[in-house]
Amino acid sequence: MNHEAGELPPNAGKAATAWAKVRSRLRQEVGDVEYRTWLRQLTLSGLEGDVAHITLPTRFLRDWVRDHYGDRLRVLCQAEMGGVRRVELRVAAEAPELVQEAVAAPASPPGLAESLSPPPAAPAAAEGGKNDWLVPLDPRFTFDSFVVGKPNEFAHACARRVSERPAQAGFNPLFLYGGVGLGKTHLMHSIAWSLREREAELQIAYMSAEKFMYRFINALRTQNIMEFKTQLRSVHVLMVDDLQFLIGKDNTQEEFFHTFNALIDAGKQIIISADKAPNDLSGIEDRLRTRLSGGIVADLHATTYELRLSILQAKAAHAGVEVPARVLELLARKIASNVRDLEGALNRIVAHARLFGRPITLESVPEVLSDILRAHDKRLSIDDIQRKVAEHYNIRLTEMASARRSRAVARPRQVAMYLAKQLTSRSLPEIGKRFGNRDHTTVLHAVNKITELMQEDPTFAEDVSLLRKMLEM
Ligand code: ADP
Ligand code: MG
Repeated sequence: MNHEAGELPPNAGKAATAWAKVRSRLRQEVGDVEYRTWLRQLTLSGLEGDVAHITLPTRFLRDWVRDHYGDRLRVLCQAEMGGVRRVELRVAAEAPELVQEAVAAPASPPGLAESLSPPPAAPAAAEGGKNDWLVPLDPRFTFDSFVVGKPNEFAHACARRVSERPAQAGFNPLFLYGGVGLGKTHLMHSIAWSLREREAELQIAYMSAEKFMYRFINALRTQNIMEFKTQLRSVHVLMVDDLQFLIGKDNTQEEFFHTFNALIDAGKQIIISADKAPNDLSGIEDRLRTRLSGGIVADLHATTYELRLSILQAKAAHAGVEVPARVLELLARKIASNVRDLEGALNRIVAHARLFGRPITLESVPEVLSDILRAHDKRLSIDDIQRKVAEHYNIRLTEMASARRSRAVARPRQVAMYLAKQLTSRSLPEIGKRFGNRDHTTVLHAVNKITELMQEDPTFAEDVSLLRKMLEM
């Protein structure tokens, strides 16, 4: 067994039992509702000396738990887990939360938050930040700065349409989905800006699903549920970003469902984003799923090389810097995961050139971006390889793990195993496991077989090299 950083040590059994005790005591102390909302997703990820490492799925949750339960958590860990003195809270998946910061950053004009708030049911100051669940809009996220290409043209067209004629049948709700950093938040903010431009009086509430939850729980605590409902239901447009974070939180889901229905019935526009299509979201009730798909569902596909290049060109032009075409091409080719990383890389290059007063060249890029480029090289997964190879040979993805031995599927499977060995740091047994639990000797045989075939058959060799190049792009 290999122990990656953060994994539990060999005496994990004992630690797990102690951790279960900590959780159950927490639950007793805070009650079921609070526990389910904030603490159910705590995971013990490792013990290191006298530190217990605990992870949460998002930064927001991490901060919330640290501020509200940090002390209790530490005390309970000290009591139940021998030797533990400190507790470190971490975010398991940083990525989806990054934008939260960008959005909440003071970059937005002052006063925006107020003007976006729904009509206050009570003076906003009365309780200190009553509307803190409304996130200000990011001035950078407009339709003007959104670059349209094949992967996002449908979502963009739907967003445009909703911004021109909100709450039209067939376009309500608008459900945008796609992976991290593909422009969901950007599109939602664009709609809000565009609507406001047209009609300054429109009440638009934009918030993350987590903020919705936070607000709801606070209302429960302070017994202001009625006020919460009135506030929410008085908006003209409700935007809830990253809905996947609402999933599984029964009582908040219930409230969301009712708000949702009330708004739709009252002819208000609802815009939702999530990382998956309504049908693929897990932990969500069927009736909510049905309502979510009741309008228009638009998918933001993974970016293509062309789109990435256009985005880089637009951003460089906007920043007013001269970046050689070859450099932009290199970035568009190497950083294929999402637009946020792409932007980050461009920003870094520009900052570096400004700082040192040197021109940006193809030679300086690898050095300035070594960490980013390396991270992207590493990110190639066995899944990616299987998908690409299956696509290339026109077989089903499931054949990668199937037991079928006919040449038509066995050879592509061997190619995928070979590439997995060449392009990832996975061991033979690990690779075998991902190919329908095959033995490591099967993988080794595949690697040898493909190497041999490549030597014998130049056309085949070329084919495999092409696949490799496509995967490495
Ligand atoms: P998501 O909400 O889908 O995770 P974001 O909307 O936060 O992604 O986008 C991440 C970053 O990439 C933002 O800075 C956004 O402006 C930028 N971005 C994404 N898609 C585009 C696009 N098509 N044109 C211009 N910028 C984009
Ligand atoms: Mg987002």
